[in-house]
Amino acid sequence: MTTTTPAIIVDEAKGPFRQGTVERRDLRPDDVRIAVAYAGICHSDIHQAREEWGEALFPMVPGHEIAGTVTEVGSDVTRFAVGDAVGVGCMVDSCGECEMCRSDHENFCEKGSVPTYNGENYDGEVAMGGYSQEIVVSERFTLRIPEGIPLDQAAPLLCAGVTTFTPLQRWVKGPEDKVAVVGMGGLGHMAVKIAAAMGTEVTVLSQTTSKEEDGKAFGATDYRATSEDSTWEDLEGSFDVIVCTVSADLPVDKYLGLLKPFGTFVNVGLPENAQSVHFGSLIMGDKTLTGSNIGGIKGTQEMLDFCAEHGIGATVEVIGADEVDRAYDDVVGSKVRYRYVIDVSTITPAG
Ligand code: NAP
Ligand code: ZN
Repeated sequence: MTTTTPAIIVDEAKGPFRQGTVERRDLRPDDVRIAVAYAGICHSDIHQAREEWGEALFPMVPGHEIAGTVTEVGSDVTRFAVGDAVGVGCMVDSCGECEMCRSDHENFCEKGSVPTYNGENYDGEVAMGGYSQEIVVSERFTLRIPEGIPLDQAAPLLCAGVTTFTPLQRWVKGPEDKVAVVGMGGLGHMAVKIAAAMGTEVTVLSQTTSKEEDGKAFGATDYRATSEDSTWEDLEGSFDVIVCTVSADLPVDKYLGLLKPFGTFVNVGLPENAQSVHFGSLIMGDKTLTGSNIGGIKGTQEMLDFCAEHGIGATVEVIGADEVDRAYDDVVGSKVRYRYVIDVSTITPAG
């Protein structure tokens, strides 16, 4: 027995979206049923729906930035009740027993964590994501959205928020560190807000200065265009930490030149192609080049609580179910200000 819920579906790589329905399982004892209110559009949705990261599972319902309200709880659920504001991010299950799960890094589960979509549950069922009106998830992978963050602004925190909070929390030593954020889209604008809330001086490195006013309103003290030669000259050796959120090819060596000795370039953007680096760029200054993958469930809750404490939400543009194709093109064209969030109540399955 399952229930049917309206959803936004793509049937093939690069295909158009349509409005239809998908099935949700009946509640297991540890499950909660969530009425989804908003689902954010992450660039990772686009990479997967367009098969830029390799073969994907179709039909696909993307969406791993989910915010809504609990409507039903299973018999063993202890942490949530009907009416609670909750979120779901990039994972919906993990083994719960391995070293990584036990140390709150479910995203690196040895059995492989179950992604919210474009993957299979442990029982072989294909997971369907948040561009839908309802989702059923184990309470272990359900996050509490604190009071004070509206659901539309909360949804993007479940991926863009945690993906930038995790490396900032790990690599920024204190407010004295100078931080740069490369790319000010969905992830980048959250990185600016979070780094500023941590008390650091933040510089945005964007393709142009067209979003400078917004960057400064988000808390940046400086905003520079990577298209200008003077940016690279002026900022050489300036930063302790650079968080890079760019979804496209990147001149990595040039960015490493902007780090102070012992500085860290942490990449969260995941472009389609491999990038190259000259080891001299790391050796001259003992620099660290690293990556960061979302975050665990405990870290995601910490991020949500941090955002509530500092009055941070995502800056969003709410769209209807029939605008997803256009929104994808806008995100790829760096036109998003700063996260599209789908109001899933507008889904009207054909027929
Ligand atoms: P987004 O909203 O499209 O932002 C990406 C930004 O990169 C753009 O706003 C733009 O910033 C810059 N950019 C785009 N094309 C560029 C180009 N050709 N050259 C230079 N800069 C360019 O995307 P997002 O949702 O923030 O995601 C960013 C990346 O992170 C994606 O690859 C996504 O898959 C990845 N991601 C990784 C994780 C993880 O766990 N590591 C989690 C989520 C997402 P400006 O306009 O300011 O130049
Ligand atoms: Zn994402």
